[in-house]
Amino acid sequence: MSSGPSVDGSAQNAGLEAVERVLPVVRRVVGARVSDPHLAEDLVQETLLRIMTAWDRIEASMVEPYAIATARNVVATMWRDRDREARNRHRALDLSTPEAPEDQVVLGEEQAAICEALGRLGEQERTRLLAHEVSGQDTRSLAAEAGSSAGAVAAQLHRTRARLRVEYLLTMEPGPPPTEDCRPVLLALSGGSRRRQRDLGVGRHLLGCDFCARVAEPLLGRAEAREDELRVPVQGDADIVKARQAAREVAAKLGFAKTQTTLVATAVSEVARNIVRFAGRGEVLVETLSEPRAGVRVVARDAGPGMTNPQEALADGFSTYNGLGLGLPGARRLMDEFVLVSEPGRGTTVTMTKWLEED
Ligand SMILES: [Zn+2]
Repeated sequence: MSSGPSVDGSAQNAGLEAVERVLPVVRRVVGARVSDPHLAEDLVQETLLRIMTAWDRIEASMVEPYAIATARNVVATMWRDRDREARNRHRALDLSTPEAPEDQVVLGEEQAAICEALGRLGEQERTRLLAHEVSGQDTRSLAAEAGSSAGAVAAQLHRTRARLRVEYLLTMEPGPPPTEDCRPVLLALSGGSRRRQRDLGVGRHLLGCDFCARVAEPLLGRAEAREDELRVPVQGDADIVKARQAAREVAAKLGFAKTQTTLVATAVSEVARNIVRFAGRGEVLVETLSEPRAGVRVVARDAGPGMTNPQEALADGFSTYNGLGLGLPGARRLMDEFVLVSEPGRGTTVTMTKWLEED
């Protein structure tokens, strides 16, 4: 996006620009339906909050239609609520598309969830977030008020937004997260920091924790948006093929020669097959590396039974598939680096790397 005033040049602008872009549309939609200017402003802000909470999941081209639909829904919900209290108030409104009753219930719940999520933030974070996202105050002026730097404010806004998403998703759940690890895991996913996710063992947690796997679904969509990484859930033989194709795609894009690409894809089939046979389900992550040089890293993990003796599984001649395939020892031979970590009862993670050969 190149339109809209530049505020601080950081990635935070994406959010602000989205708000600036849809604000006139939202005002128009609400203004056409609500005559009281104060009420209209409340509804505009309510709409912006909803869009803000969801925009990471909205395609850029869908932001405006989404904003219009959301504004209509916010007005309709307000009308429904008010109508229940005082039937004559509906004269102030002109609703062109009355919503279905079941939609209304869902929307009402969503609205309550956003308010509750905002309420779970600290007062300072909330105030700053709203000043930035809803009132459009830029990070430089927020920093001046706080005696801080624009960069620090931008970083704090990023964390606040990550927290808001997590709290919003948690309000939809009937109970609290089952373990102490859950919230940090969800925050790491929401914040998008690879390193933090790796340090916390997020992938493994998601495989073992149904609660987080469910709650994190919208957050995982964010991670998949990365172009240089492919994540393939593995549950059956068809997924072995998908994992293999993902590896081929990533390696080819990086410039691997055809033979090398085939070696990587073959190694990936083997680790994926290992998941299907021994754990039932897991995932294969294929990502590109640029440090210390170009390469492909494959992480295959499951939360299955694990191995009591991982070394044995890597010994040549160790037959796991009755003669079918190369097994883990084969995968190890095909790659430059290969690390197997397995714990009985906790699952197995294979991390393997193939470096691009310089010419
Ligand atoms: Zn969890």
